[in-house]
Amino acid sequence: MPPIGSTSQALDSEDAGTPIESFDVLIVGAGLSGIGAAVHLQRRCPSATYAILEARDVIGGTWDLFRFPGVRSDSDMYTLGYTFRPWTHANAIADGSSIRRYIVDTAREAGVDAHIRFGHRITSASWSSDSALWAIEALRSGSQTRMRVHCRFLYICSGYYSYESAYRPAFTDEPLYGGTIVHPQFWPEHLDYTGKRVIVIGSGATAVSLIPEMAKSAAHVTMLQRSPSYVFNLPTIDPIANQLRRWLPAGLVNPLVRMKNVLIGMAFFQLARRRPELAKKMLIRLVRERLPPNFDVAKHYTPRYNPWDQRLCVVTDGDLFTAIGKGAVSVVTDEIDAFTRGGIRLKSGAELNSDIVVVATGLKVNLLGDIDFTVDGVRMEISHRTAYKGAMLSGMPNMAYTFGYTNASWTLKAELTANYVCRLIRHMHSHGYAIAVPRRDSKVVEEPFLDFTSGYVVRALGVMPKQGSLRPWKVYQNYFMDAFTLRFGRIDDDVLQFSRAHSASST
Ligand SMILES: Cc1cc2nc3c(=O)[nH]c(=O)nc-3n(C[C@H](O)[C@H](O)[C@H](O)COP(=O)(O)OP(=O)(O)OC[C@H]3O[C@@H](n4cnc5c(N)ncnc54)[C@H](O)[C@@H]3O)c2cc1C
Repeated sequence: MPPIGSTSQALDSEDAGTPIESFDVLIVGAGLSGIGAAVHLQRRCPSATYAILEARDVIGGTWDLFRFPGVRSDSDMYTLGYTFRPWTHANAIADGSSIRRYIVDTAREAGVDAHIRFGHRITSASWSSDSALWAIEALRSGSQTRMRVHCRFLYICSGYYSYESAYRPAFTDEPLYGGTIVHPQFWPEHLDYTGKRVIVIGSGATAVSLIPEMAKSAAHVTMLQRSPSYVFNLPTIDPIANQLRRWLPAGLVNPLVRMKNVLIGMAFFQLARRRPELAKKMLIRLVRERLPPNFDVAKHYTPRYNPWDQRLCVVTDGDLFTAIGKGAVSVVTDEIDAFTRGGIRLKSGAELNSDIVVVATGLKVNLLGDIDFTVDGVRMEISHRTAYKGAMLSGMPNMAYTFGYTNASWTLKAELTANYVCRLIRHMHSHGYAIAVPRRDSKVVEEPFLDFTSGYVVRALGVMPKQGSLRPWKVYQNYFMDAFTLRFGRIDDDVLQFSRAHSASST
């Protein structure tokens, strides 16, 4: 790239004489990934000009949007938090508002907040090889006017799901229901469930964190699931981390505890992949030990799939099991036949009565911020692209994206990607390159982007990019493999093609 930092000036004038701003790097999204990306960029490429365009009016993404009772991480904050800003709270598993504060404070302390343009939803991005620039168009919330900016490098940190709509199957006779139906993604601020009978449809991470919290004041909560998920218990407090903190500074404790947690997570994942029956037995035994002796674990907590074919659901401090033991929560494994005036009729013929139904049926996957991409006038379908190092896409010049791990904390991969993007930008700068584009070899065998059977992944495979069977096209769900490739691997690897300025046709 030509000298970084030289481009924050008027370049064009499409808007009736209004100069179009231009940045070296444009980050999409001010969530956990976007804020982390900006801090890395400031530190490693200090002369690069950048802005963050954020569709909403606040920092935090997921951790601001989700407000259902009990919203929390199921990863520990030593791996979900940033490497550059130690997590110093006593709890290793954090509630949603603590994570939101952590992201906001990080942005403020690093001065990243001054670079955010709120209320700007990017709708299209058009690359020109002649100018070696992305022309970005964003819709301003409120006024619905369009704004244009140019950037040399587009860095997409837009998360992985739609903020506007969730996955929400339509059930027969829903309009007959006399109670309230809510989705956890759009939780009504003043919903009072005290003394109410609640049905939660779903068995995923959201249901598992929501149910024990609602059970504290609801009359009763029924967890209604079509099929069971694996659940396992974690303490909110990490006693080793808290003990270490007595002797060592946070700057030392965090990397140690992060490494411990990465290794434990990877060891269990490997066990689940190599000895699924053993992993299954272990998980089910741990659940059985926590539940009353007469509880039907075989029916309600024995999934049909193998551990880590889908994400495991974390119960914290045994709260779900305690609530079941007390009779505040019951679990029903059955299918919905239809809604009735007073609740839900099941295929078995049984009826559940309720005042509130929570439809915890999941997210609608949406990659790369729902942006329309063109490269030199050719429309780019994301599903026809192949992931390069899990951070860029074939045929898409000067563009990187963040997509975290399915089997470990999102931030582990987000930070490796940020590190790689900074290395790439520095490499381009020092060699005077304007364009970097991964060129796919036609011999690379295509595979699905994710090897995961969760409903939201399976529903979205058609809109996801592909991965290849071999490095550097393989998307690893493995922190150490990625660390090796993204932090230490060659930037100039013959697959990523560099040029000073030429026409980048798509591959
Ligand atoms: C309830 C819940 C619990 C979770 N718990 C965990 C966990 O414990 N561990 C874990 O690793 N992961 C977890 N996840 C996944 C979670 O999304 C990631 O941890 C992380 O928050 C992702 O951060 P992000 O910044 O990449 O995306 P997001 O948090 O989704 O932020 C993306 C931002 O980009 C903005 N944006 C999107 N498109 C555009 C556009 N076109 N133009 C401008 N701005 C745009 C959005 O408005 C948003 O602010 C959880 C997810 C949910 C929903």
